[in-house]
Amino acid sequence: MKLTEHHKNILHSKIRLTHCNSCGLSSISFSDTIYEMREFNGGRLNLSSSLYPVIVASCSNCGNTVFYNAIILGLVNQKGELIK
Ligand SMILES: [Zn+2]
Repeated sequence: MKLTEHHKNILHSKIRLTHCNSCGLSSISFSDTIYEMREFNGGRLNLSSSLYPVIVASCSNCGNTVFYNAIILGLVNQKGELIK
């Protein structure tokens, strides 16, 4: 699910990640897509397992990757719907 400009503004108003906490360079970029992280189930997809909608921030220098919970950021509600 792609983020709108409104959602990107919310994201950048709440997160002040300017430098990578691994290599220290300012090479961080945020995804413009909401991904989902599911409970590991031995390699089998379990659609009833819990999941987290996440925004991904990654460093283009060292590959350090950080996930932000899109529900806590106020981008997605508890039903998994994008908040307008
Ligand atoms: Zn880095």
